[in-house]
Amino acid sequence: MSSVGSLSFSLTVFYIRCVPAPNIDTIVSLAKRRGFVFPSSEVYGGLGSAWDYGPLGVELCNNVKQSWWRWLVYDRDDIEGIDSSIILNRLVWKYSGHEATFHDPLVDCRECKSRMRADKLEGYFPEGGRLGEFDANARLRGGLVKCSNCGSTNLTDERYFNMMFRTTLGAAAAEDDPAAVAYLRPETAQGIFINFLNVQTAMRRKVPFGIAQVGKSFRNEITPGNFILRTREFEQMEMEYFVTPDAEHLQMVDEWTALYVEWFKGLGIDGRNLKLHEVPKEELAHYSKRTVDIMYRYFPERAEEERQWEELMGIAYRTDFDLRSHSSKPVDEEGKRINADSTDDLSYFDEPTKTRFYPHVIEPAAGVNRTVLAVLMDAYSERTNDKGETRVILKLAPQLAPIKAAILPLAKNKPEIVGMAKAIKRSLQPMLRAVYDDTGGIGKLYARQDEIGTPLCVTVDHQSLEDEAVTVRDRDTWEQERVKVSELAQHLQRRLQA
Ligand code: ATP
Repeated sequence: MSSVGSLSFSLTVFYIRCVPAPNIDTIVSLAKRRGFVFPSSEVYGGLGSAWDYGPLGVELCNNVKQSWWRWLVYDRDDIEGIDSSIILNRLVWKYSGHEATFHDPLVDCRECKSRMRADKLEGYFPEGGRLGEFDANARLRGGLVKCSNCGSTNLTDERYFNMMFRTTLGAAAAEDDPAAVAYLRPETAQGIFINFLNVQTAMRRKVPFGIAQVGKSFRNEITPGNFILRTREFEQMEMEYFVTPDAEHLQMVDEWTALYVEWFKGLGIDGRNLKLHEVPKEELAHYSKRTVDIMYRYFPERAEEERQWEELMGIAYRTDFDLRSHSSKPVDEEGKRINADSTDDLSYFDEPTKTRFYPHVIEPAAGVNRTVLAVLMDAYSERTNDKGETRVILKLAPQLAPIKAAILPLAKNKPEIVGMAKAIKRSLQPMLRAVYDDTGGIGKLYARQDEIGTPLCVTVDHQSLEDEAVTVRDRDTWEQERVKVSELAQHLQRRLQA
């Protein structure tokens, strides 16, 4: 090693200390400091679990959604996209089963007055037991269930709480007018089912095919929390894949699960932080015959391995439940219409077999926010040098990085350098998201871009004025390369796609 003073910075030893993020709190602080996610309504003391996405957060969310949309709607030939209303006719939620069954069990602690979701409490389920096989209130009264806040067993009986947000439509409607009641959608899926025939006919589709939708959903969660993991307003990326009644449905759940695991890995998530969870039969939603959850290790700091995981997404076999229950024709055993309100039949006529049926559905349902959190946690890394100084580097996959290239002038008081850097930024912008930054010394500027995950920095220096070349610096290796300005756009695009 050289002892020449001027080289001492570049020879400082950095080593990776910690990958990925040690806990969610680390991401909360980075996200606020660097403009990804802010606590919502902060000037009024915040609003429970609501979060606002800042300048970089909105880019990251959009990139996740775009990656998903491209992967399903553009790269494949069998999936269409739609964007349905958030507020649908109330009858949609009656016949989907949400009005009757979309609820969670709620208990209050008599000691500390906390209100909690009963089925998330220690002791709620008997050891190795299953939902439906036990009397929850007997367990609550018997002191077997513990308050998650103070540990007391002095809890109320459970009662069911419907999680749909209610509102009333129209200026003249009274609060309790049943004809005016509407809900904010708790899932995007129903907007797809009620449009099944519209899409199939308009796009001349034949089963099997899928319909994808991304958008906001709302659930009045009893216990929101853990940053953007569980909020009352969130975004879903759902796809309903319609298949014949005799398709290999259970196997298709495995196939879609495998495809999604690969997609998540393509977003930069380490496969070791993903695992599959086969949802036990007794815990399946009313419409599902099989569900596999893809879990992410959101809580690496927890001592017990099994408590480190939370659902990232679910892949469900929904049978023909939804299309059938929204249809006018099906009847029950007594010959009565199951749906007395529907004016349409959502069945499908299969030309080759000359048969009519309700398509069955495989549904991969993912959350934008939980994906963003997993991506941030996995991208997070720290480098510590031999002086104990720590630098944060967000190793985001280039396709997800909010900013692809930062154009930095080495001297901001040199108009020629500044002018050249700004011109380079403008020329790159049509191809990729670039920013110009001159708000600090070059070391600070590099550190800031590393911390927000910008894959490449482009530095314009004195020599650039002479040789029409710039330095391109890599976020992960910190290696620098001299590139001609005339070849820069192509060079960056190649590096970002590699
Ligand atoms: P959980 O059991 O965690 O409440 P869920 O099984 O009810 O979730 P689904 O109905 O399968 O969730 O919704 C599909 C996806 O939507 C989830 O895997 C998750 O990514 C996302 N999601 C659901 N509820 C929320 C929420 N309250 N906040 C953020 N994302 C959510």
